[in-house]
Amino acid sequence: MLYTSTRDSSVRVDSATAIATGISPDGGLYVPVELPVYDYADLNRVMSAGYCERAVDILSEFLTDFSKTELRECVAQAYEGKFREDGEIAPLHGLTDKEYVLELWHGPTCAFKDMALQLLPHLLRKATLKTGCNKEVVILVATSGDTGKAALEGFADVPGTRIIVFYPDEGVSNIQKLQMTTQEGSNVSVCAVSGNFDDAQTGVKNIFLNADIKAELEANGMQFSSANSINLGRLVPQIVYYISAYLDLMCSGKMDYEGEKVNIVVPTGNFGNILAAFYAKQIGLPVGKLICASNANNVLTDFIKTGVYDRNRTFHTTISPSMDILISSNLERLIYHLSGCDSERVKKWMADLAATGRYEVDDDVKAQLQELFWAGCCDDAGTKSTIKDIFDDYNYLCDTHTAVALNVYNQYVAETEDSETPVIVASTANPYKFAPSVLDALTDVDPSRSEFDIISELSVMSSVAIPDELAELRGKEVRFDKVCDRDKMIDVVRETLGLK
Ligand SMILES: *Cc1c(COP(=O)(O)O)cnc(C)c1O
Repeated sequence: MLYTSTRDSSVRVDSATAIATGISPDGGLYVPVELPVYDYADLNRVMSAGYCERAVDILSEFLTDFSKTELRECVAQAYEGKFREDGEIAPLHGLTDKEYVLELWHGPTCAFKDMALQLLPHLLRKATLKTGCNKEVVILVATSGDTGKAALEGFADVPGTRIIVFYPDEGVSNIQKLQMTTQEGSNVSVCAVSGNFDDAQTGVKNIFLNADIKAELEANGMQFSSANSINLGRLVPQIVYYISAYLDLMCSGKMDYEGEKVNIVVPTGNFGNILAAFYAKQIGLPVGKLICASNANNVLTDFIKTGVYDRNRTFHTTISPSMDILISSNLERLIYHLSGCDSERVKKWMADLAATGRYEVDDDVKAQLQELFWAGCCDDAGTKSTIKDIFDDYNYLCDTHTAVALNVYNQYVAETEDSETPVIVASTANPYKFAPSVLDALTDVDPSRSEFDIISELSVMSSVAIPDELAELRGKEVRFDKVCDRDKMIDVVRETLGLK
């Protein structure tokens, strides 16, 4: 299968090149020229297989320049022994006989980013070798929390790679900070940056654009790469769990008939996770509506309802911080497909967005958006009341991001009266990862208490076990305590890599 650019449809690259380079030189994102088609026989083929074998099958449809043996190696390294002890990678939890929560947070960092970031390093390593490059790959990450830890955990001790993560000194939770500063691995490095997430992000972008350091890396047999969510190697692994969840429902006799449609609800930020569900539908998974859930940063809700994308609005800091985002990068891929692969139109919309912060898609795209998607949003108060309702009604503890999805799903049912279609709700974080907000939704919390005490109290209330990865943080040695100024980040990179 070949890939093209959303901003120039004459581009043709294989998947290894798309993964190794991350973004097309014209600034566009890589998208498949033609999608594979899965029919029912294909689904049956992997029905009785476990998650890993299903993953190999589905990945091989998209990454056709990787052999099945190579994919099998990558998948085994990513998922075997790294997720739940019982081997379930992405289990479904039934709230009712129609509503299923797809728990995507049983990986090492307790958030859904593990689903892709455990696999990406192995795909990236193979992709760079395939494209004739045997340089050491240096991953630079600026993170507001979840991505940094998931990337560290994914790249730790992967041969041929190094990873350096910068996080804002002000702006990550205590648990998130500890998760990063105690990271093990001989090829990992973590540094705090004085300032906020934008300072860290701008600093990383400037390093990527700096010709001097690029040349220094080159001279030392290294090259930069990025692990952010527009990389094809993060997108494709996310398609797998939607198909796998559907197969699990089929296998367990939870569906009324073969090929019955399901709705899918996704708590959305950068539009990566829900785009994967869109691809799953396009290649043949029987999906009814794709329901896009946002928090108070509801730029996507407005876009899906009106066809106008407008980032000129107040940025809200919410209790579902991984969805606090005003530019959803992966949306560019969706509008490329819905425009009939019209890269000229996409280029114009993206130019409008860069110049004015706003663009409006044409009626043909708008009509398809509304046919495929339903969108809604909720604020922090709504998020908290949903956490409480779900706990009271079903004795199920969900995190703040998942609660946004469940809240919006209830809005969908109230408006459309479609409560008969089975629904898969993507759950993106372990509730203990956002323990202070979750406990606050259930009871009054003394804000001066430590996060570990809060986690303990939550586990007493809910009888849900605390994941080892979080419990162990308490006694773990801090390996990285450096803080630097934004303009000194480049020196930290040089020092870490031994360049000077
Ligand atoms: C990253 C993240 C999201 C948003 O996912 P996108 O693919 O960016 O839309 C939602 N919830 C959690 C917990 C996340 O870490």
